[in-house]
Amino acid sequence: MTPQNRVSLDPANWDDFSTSAHQMLDDMIENMRTVRDRPIWQKMPDDIRAEFTAPLPENGADLSAVYEEFTEHILPYPMGTTHPRFWAWVIGSGLPVSVLAELLAATQNPNLGGGDHVANEVEKQVINWSKQMFGFPEGASGLLVSGGSMANFVALAVARHNKAPYDVREEGVQGQAVKMTFYASVEAHSSVPKALQLLGIGKAGLRLIPTNDQFEIDVAALEAQIIADKTAGYLPVCIIGGLGTVNTGAVDDLGALLKIAGKYDMWFHIDGAFGAMSVLAPQFEHLRDIVSQADSLAFDFHKWMYIPYEAGCTLIRDREQHSTTFSEHPAYLAHQPRGVGAGTDWFSDYGLQLSRGFKALKIWFAIKVHGLGDFRQSIQQNMDHATYLAQKVTAHPDLELAAPAPMNIVCFRFVAPGLSGTEQDDLNREILFRIQEAGIAVPSYTTLNGRFAIRVAHTNHRSTYEDFDLLLESVTDFAKVILAEKVAG
Ligand SMILES: *Cc1c(COP(=O)(O)O)cnc(C)c1O
Repeated sequence: MTPQNRVSLDPANWDDFSTSAHQMLDDMIENMRTVRDRPIWQKMPDDIRAEFTAPLPENGADLSAVYEEFTEHILPYPMGTTHPRFWAWVIGSGLPVSVLAELLAATQNPNLGGGDHVANEVEKQVINWSKQMFGFPEGASGLLVSGGSMANFVALAVARHNKAPYDVREEGVQGQAVKMTFYASVEAHSSVPKALQLLGIGKAGLRLIPTNDQFEIDVAALEAQIIADKTAGYLPVCIIGGLGTVNTGAVDDLGALLKIAGKYDMWFHIDGAFGAMSVLAPQFEHLRDIVSQADSLAFDFHKWMYIPYEAGCTLIRDREQHSTTFSEHPAYLAHQPRGVGAGTDWFSDYGLQLSRGFKALKIWFAIKVHGLGDFRQSIQQNMDHATYLAQKVTAHPDLELAAPAPMNIVCFRFVAPGLSGTEQDDLNREILFRIQEAGIAVPSYTTLNGRFAIRVAHTNHRSTYEDFDLLLESVTDFAKVILAEKVAG
């Protein structure tokens, strides 16, 4: 007699599963539709937080009971990224069509490490579209990754592998006589030093070049440092240009960096985590020509193309240089002539990950449904909003810009006469906390020239001009309340 299975993890009753699933879908659509009507963020009560310390369950519960827990304990306390007044760090606002694509992708559950199946073709198409967006040549390669941090890591690994004067994969960097050096501005994102630490270059091998008053890399200082390093016996291998720095959205003089990289036979990488998308909009279209000449480009779909997390991308100008950095073919991953193990181009040969999810589908859906045209318009609209906000700040007697706002980031502060620098910082930090805690808006913060600033980084396709009016009204209203409290003591 054939033995019977002890267990199946599929639903015992598919009809019940379907009923629950439809309920969830309807609820989530309603959630997206009504996001503006809810507070953007609220602090989780302690008893809710405590729910997440319950021990590991041995026995399962009904799907409907678990969903109820979700609606009570999880759904009401989001980060707020899908709300029209979320402008913190640089975080995209999500796209409804991609929510659906996530369901479809998880249903197929492919692994895009390799093999011969359609999901790989979808990712290849998304990579090819990315090459077209940024003018990269047909022979370029690319990889979808978790985000800009991993995109920078992959690109810098390719730079290191191809510029090292020895076989770095074989020999490593330990004990080598020649020390490679990398160059970026002091405004470079923290993922750059992180990547170089992991690549054995260390912070010691990263030269952080000062910036001018626009927060752009000082090109003369960069070249002087390269020359000094060569004289001192270092090997300068890579310049990292910022296209949209994280603090202020500054754009380094990419044309000048490209020239210097060419002159000293160095790799030219662009960190365009969010800012690369600006070249899709009329205002920054002129940069596309320079971007197209970089050796590598890191950018995020989950920032300024609004795709739900996670979705970053690396483009590498030379496919061969890319694959020779990462490919490994043990017997269990050998590419076969036929069957599911066929295919010459496996994504696992282009990065660190072997197992890879189908994040390509949510990007593919979004680009197909919206066309690039919708994105161009929305990105330009975001920049128009930022210009509007910066102008209102400048015109307001109690507000000041903390930095130029060339792209989609506006840093500003409330200025109260008679307060010291530290008191100003405390006031603005308190204003920010109150706006967030009141559930009105979520800007973030940074420090510029030693002073605290409220920072609006705008990659939100749901915001309107009125949302920015409300932000500034709230800033000035809370400032008055806080100053009055101070006087009252
Ligand atoms: C956000 C950002 C990164 C890191 O990207 P993640 O997607 O958060 O990993 C790198 N560089 C810049 C300029 C960024 O703004």
